Amino acid sequence: MTKRLIPAALGCFFFVSAARAADPPRPTPTPPPPVAIRAARLLDVASGRYIERPVVVVVGDRIDSIGSTVPAGARVLDLGNRVLLPGLIDTHTHVLLQGDPTAVEYDEQILKEYPAHRVARAVRALKIGLEHGFTTMRDLETEGAGYDDVALRDAVNEGVIPGPRLKVVGPALSTTGSYPIQHYRPDWKFPSGVMVCDGADGCRKAVREQLSYGTDWVKIYANTGGLRATSDGYIDSPPNWTKEEIEAVVSEAHAHGVKVAAHARSDTGTRIAIAAGVDSIEHGDSIRPEAAQEMARKGIFLVPTLLVADYVAGPRTAAGCAVCAETEKAHAKSFDNCRKAGVKIAFGTDAGGFPWTEINQAKEFEFEVKLGMTPIEAIRSATTVAAELLGMKGQVGTIEKGAFADLVAMPGDPLAGVSALQGIDFVMKGGEVVRAPSASP
Ligand SMILES: [Zn+2]
Repeated sequence: MTKRLIPAALGCFFFVSAARAADPPRPTPTPPPPVAIRAARLLDVASGRYIERPVVVVVGDRIDSIGSTVPAGARVLDLGNRVLLPGLIDTHTHVLLQGDPTAVEYDEQILKEYPAHRVARAVRALKIGLEHGFTTMRDLETEGAGYDDVALRDAVNEGVIPGPRLKVVGPALSTTGSYPIQHYRPDWKFPSGVMVCDGADGCRKAVREQLSYGTDWVKIYANTGGLRATSDGYIDSPPNWTKEEIEAVVSEAHAHGVKVAAHARSDTGTRIAIAAGVDSIEHGDSIRPEAAQEMARKGIFLVPTLLVADYVAGPRTAAGCAVCAETEKAHAKSFDNCRKAGVKIAFGTDAGGFPWTEINQAKEFEFEVKLGMTPIEAIRSATTVAAELLGMKGQVGTIEKGAFADLVAMPGDPLAGVSALQGIDFVMKGGEVVRAPSASP
């Protein structure tokens, strides 16, 4: 059923559903046969245990059953010696970026690349992400590419291009003078990497405008420039929002049932974002124990993006960023504070901050484990926990009856070593095989 804008008699507009009665009668199509997927083992993410010799039955785009026998009439897909897992979820990506370790690469993409070129490269990024096993992604802002993420999401949903299920934000929000493109000649107009809003009313209007273009989430920069190391090994910065502004953004989004992700890399940024009641803290380089406890109490997730932090630290330090050499230690401490406080940690990589074509975003698992997560905790961060953050619990990140048939498989044992997740060579999204192994191991 499609929705159309119909002019009403009184001259205003309202939404109506296109009448089914006007559609010509269609013959009932014969449903395709169920698909029975066999593998050596299935990782039950909830219990952390393997199920031996599973048979997952898929009907249409959903999982119908998990058992041990192939139902009559089913088409069999045998994955040999592989381990079957739910499709993975990356809750922090930028498909419209192609790696920006320093301001030079960032400015190059935002100022010089034609919009269609950026979209073409985003189409490639979506395919890469999907083929690496990420069947759902939350893409956290377009960096100067407006609402092209909304268009990409819709094109994926229409089947025009391959890609993960997407939740998108359009441009992130920040205040005047706080985010690139900056410091170019003032008599010329340059594009901004964000949508600027000022004042509580202005920021409420910005949220309303963004949602009118079809975005799913709101993203804010809870802090931007001016990062500095504190004497006790954390990171701080000046605020870029007033309390009224940031509260206006969060309350307006929540009033529409939309969640808010906050980029927060400093004490001040984290504090004001938590106080305003955002839903996720992105990066989280500087989260003291008290802040972590408050996050746990309020149910605010951490999305740590450890892989990108490692990728940019070297180039940014070389480009003169003094604090960049300090952030890794603060980040590790913050991650630990969150784990101890019981904060839910969702998998997010910032892919696009590093090149899609060079690094498999599944490498993030290695960093999570290096900082103390067990392999099953890391896998949960990219499945059940990420699904909860996205409000898609029971739909994605799980192999259970009624969930989307989003499945991945790989040789090896991810519980023995999470680097096996970089070897995913079978991907199914919504019952469709989007990547098949060339031969059984
Ligand atoms: Zn990001």
